[in-house]
Amino acid sequence: RTVFVNGEYLPETDAKISIFDRGFLMADGVYEVTSVLGGKLIDFDGHLKRLERSLNELDMEKPSEFDDLLEIHRKLVELNGIEEGMIYLQVTRGAPGDRDFVFPDPAETRPTLVLFTQNKPGLADSPAAQKGIKVISIEDIRWGRRDIKTVQLLYPSMGKMMAKKAGCDDAWLVEEGKVTEGTSNNAYIVKDGKIITRALSNDILHGITRAAVLRFAREAQMEVVERSFTIEEAQQADEAFVTSASTFVMPVVEIDGAEIGEGAVGPVAKRLREIYLDESLKAAV
Ligand code: PMP
Repeated sequence: RTVFVNGEYLPETDAKISIFDRGFLMADGVYEVTSVLGGKLIDFDGHLKRLERSLNELDMEKPSEFDDLLEIHRKLVELNGIEEGMIYLQVTRGAPGDRDFVFPDPAETRPTLVLFTQNKPGLADSPAAQKGIKVISIEDIRWGRRDIKTVQLLYPSMGKMMAKKAGCDDAWLVEEGKVTEGTSNNAYIVKDGKIITRALSNDILHGITRAAVLRFAREAQMEVVERSFTIEEAQQADEAFVTSASTFVMPVVEIDGAEIGEGAVGPVAKRLREIYLDESLKAAV
């Protein structure tokens, strides 16, 4: 694989980052994942805007290559021959010469920029999307700025492991009795034709896929209600699903052992997945 590190395209085995990098020592970094379909980037503008917002919220400098990011994404897709897959991008506050809680002076440290591709043939035609996934619920004990897409992914990672141990695929996070989101996706239920998902706040990541799916749903005259819901309400819903850049619209057929609806992929999730794939492919760059 050819990867991009601080201005250079290199074989992955030659890519190097300092041991003092604040991403490595302190999870002082932000990231984006953009999917690739038909060799093109899905929702690139949305990801770039959110990256800029994450950097701003953390007072982090933009990498000097910021304005060239589309070109860098495209070049990596081409160099690695990616038809379907993802591009991972990470920016950290850089690598000062030592470990220190205080942010380094931006005049002395430049941000670290890393990008790499992940080849995933069959991403759009995923067998999981035909079958639906099973989730468990766990307490949401993450920090309070989940709207910033930081690389602090230890708890989400533990959540996936708890799900795996329980024979499930993923976990939904619950705070004060209400679902916030999935470990790496936004969460939805469908009841009497209404699509229900938590409103945007600092409590959840402002999903790029969420924004697109809600827009397409409204354009298709489907009713969208942005409000919180409990696990009990979700278990009695007609359908449930999650969205993310790497899974698009993914049906959820079981929550904490309770089947949702018929326990199979429902019509709303199926239709939204089709619309999302169609429309975002048309707009892909
Ligand atoms: N919530 C969390 C916690 C996530 O990690 C992600 C994906 N990284 C999402 C939601 C979905 O966001 P997007 O649609 O932009 O991938």
